[in-house]
Amino acid sequence: MSEVILKGIAAAPGIVSGFAFILDKQEFIVPPRAIMEKEVPIEIARFEEALIKAREEILSIQKRMTTEFQGLHAQIFDAHLLVLEDRTLIEEVIKRIKEERFSAEYVFFEVLRKYIKIFSNIEDEYLRERVGDINDVGRRILKNLMDESKLHELDHLTEELIIVSHDLSPSDTATMYNKNIRAFVTDIGGRTSHTAIMAKSLGVPAVVGLKDATLRINNQDYIIVDGRKGLVILNPGPETKALYKVEQNRIEEFRDRYSDLRDLPSETPDGRRIVLLANLELPEEIPTVKKQGAEGIGLYRTEYFYMNRVDLPSEEEQYKAYKHVAETMAPHPVTIRTLDLGGDKFISSLQIPREMYPFLGWRAIRFCLARPDIFKTQLSAILRASVHGNVRLMYPMITGPGEFRQANAILEEVKRNLKEENIPFKTDMEVGVMIETPSAAMTADLLAKEANFFSIGTNDLIQYTLAVDRVNEQTAHLYEPGHPSVLRLIKNTIEAAHKENIKVGLCGEMCSEPILALILLGLNLDEFSMSPLQIPQIKKLVRSVKWTDAQKVAEEVLKLSTGDEVEELSHVRLQELAPHIIGTARSNAR
Ligand code: PEP
Ligand code: MG
Repeated sequence: MSEVILKGIAAAPGIVSGFAFILDKQEFIVPPRAIMEKEVPIEIARFEEALIKAREEILSIQKRMTTEFQGLHAQIFDAHLLVLEDRTLIEEVIKRIKEERFSAEYVFFEVLRKYIKIFSNIEDEYLRERVGDINDVGRRILKNLMDESKLHELDHLTEELIIVSHDLSPSDTATMYNKNIRAFVTDIGGRTSHTAIMAKSLGVPAVVGLKDATLRINNQDYIIVDGRKGLVILNPGPETKALYKVEQNRIEEFRDRYSDLRDLPSETPDGRRIVLLANLELPEEIPTVKKQGAEGIGLYRTEYFYMNRVDLPSEEEQYKAYKHVAETMAPHPVTIRTLDLGGDKFISSLQIPREMYPFLGWRAIRFCLARPDIFKTQLSAILRASVHGNVRLMYPMITGPGEFRQANAILEEVKRNLKEENIPFKTDMEVGVMIETPSAAMTADLLAKEANFFSIGTNDLIQYTLAVDRVNEQTAHLYEPGHPSVLRLIKNTIEAAHKENIKVGLCGEMCSEPILALILLGLNLDEFSMSPLQIPQIKKLVRSVKWTDAQKVAEEVLKLSTGDEVEELSHVRLQELAPHIIGTARSNAR
C-alpha cells in the first residue's frame, strides 16, 4: 500500500505512530478482539442469535405500532427487516469471522461501516436514505452482541489508541481522560476547538480539520500523526518511519531538558516576573499542573463538570470539587470561571435549543443571567470554596460593564443568603472579567474600573474580531492570532488594565505558541495561562528573552499590516533572541 499524506490543522504538538481506531460518530465503539480458531463457531452462533433476537424485537415493535397507531409508520420496520435478511451482508460477516478471526461484533461493525460508506455515496436519494435503516438495525444487532452499556461509552478502552473521528465533543474528550489515548485525528475542527484543548492537556498530539480522514483511514491502519505540522501519514514507508523516529527522539530530548526548569522562577534576564498559570478542565489534571511548575490555575473550565451526566451538579457536589482544587493548589490562585456553556459546549442535562449561530447565541454569561437558578447554585459553591484557598472568580463572554454589574448583583444576592445562614465565604474574593469579545476589549477602560482582574480569552476574541468560526476547518486559514486587529485589542486591554492597576492575564491557546508569547511578553502581559504541559517551553522563553527586547519586537510587529507578516517577523526575532526554542509556533494552519 502506498504512503498517503493527509493535510489538516496542527492542533496539539508531538509525533506518534500507531494503529488507528475509528470512533464512529454513530457511537458504535467496538474495539478489535482477536479470537482463537476454536472460538470461530461460537462467534458465528452468537452472530446468528443476535440476528434472530433483532428480528424478534423488530417484529414486536411493528406489532405494537400496528395496534397502537393504526399501522402508522409500521412499514419503516419492513425496511429494517430487509436489512436483517440481507444474505450478502450476513455471509460476508460469517466469512470474515472465519478468515480474519476477530469477534462477531468487531467483524459485523467493520462490515456495517463499509455498507454505510457505500450507501452514503450512492446518487439515488431513496437508496441513500436507507443509511438510517442500516444504522438502526446495525445498532440493534451490536447491542445484542455486546454489553449495551459498552456500546456508548469509551470506558472499556484499554489499548493504546490513536482516535480517528469525524468530530469529538467536549464530553467525548472528557470521557477519554485517563484512557490510553495516543493522539486525536478529526475531520472537522480548528486550532482552538476543544479537541485541541483536551489533546494539549492530555499531552498528546492532535490534527484536526482533515475533512475526510474517517473515510480515508480504516480501523487498524498504521498511521503517523504529526501534530506540529498538522499531517497524518497513512501507510508510511520505511524511510518516512525512520525520519519520524529521529524527529520524535529530538522532541523528547527537548522535553527532558525543560524538566530542569520546574523550580526556577519565570523571570526575564532583565528582571520582569511573569506568572505562568495552568488551564484546567478536570481536577484529575492537578498532579500534571504541579509537576510542570504552574503557579496556580488561570482558567478552570467548570463546564466539564456539567458534562456526561443526566442531571445538573448540586451545590454540594460543586463545592467539594472546587474546595478540592483550591486546597490542593493553595496558596496559589485558582481562577474559577463560571459556566461557559454554549458555542461548541453542550450539556445533555439541559434542553437547550440548537441555534443557527451558537457562538453568537445563548451562551456563557447570557445563559447564566437568564437561568439564575443554575447560576446561583454555582456561585454559592464557589463562594463557599473560597475560604479553602486562594480562589478568584471570573465571568465568560462579558460584553461590557452592564453585564458585569448584572452578574455581580446576583453574586451579591448569593453572598447575602450565605451570610444569613452563617456560612463562611471570603467577602473580598477577587472577581474578574474574561475579555473575549471585541466589545469587552473596546470597553476595557470602563471594565477595568470595576473588575479586580482581566483574563483575555483569545480563542473567542479572535473568532469574534475576525468573524471566523473557531471550530470550522473551512475558515481555519483566516483564524489569525497575529492579525493587527487582534493585537491592537490585546494592547488596548493590557494598557487599560494597567492604568487602573489591575493585573491582566491571557488564557487562550495563543499564549503557549512561542512566537506569539514573545509578542505578548513585549505587550506587558502579566499572567500567561495555558495547558500545563506547555508551561516549561514558555518558561524557557521568558528566561531567555530580555523584556526590553520583547518590547521592541512588540513595537515592530504592531507596525505591520497582516497576521502573516507579524508571525514571520516574530519568528525571525525569536530565532535571533532564543534560537534553542523549538519552533512549534509558526502556524501550520494555512
Ligand atoms: C478563550 O475563549 O480564549 C478561552 C480561554 O475560553 P474557551 O476556550 O473555553 O472558550
Ligand atoms: Mg472563551
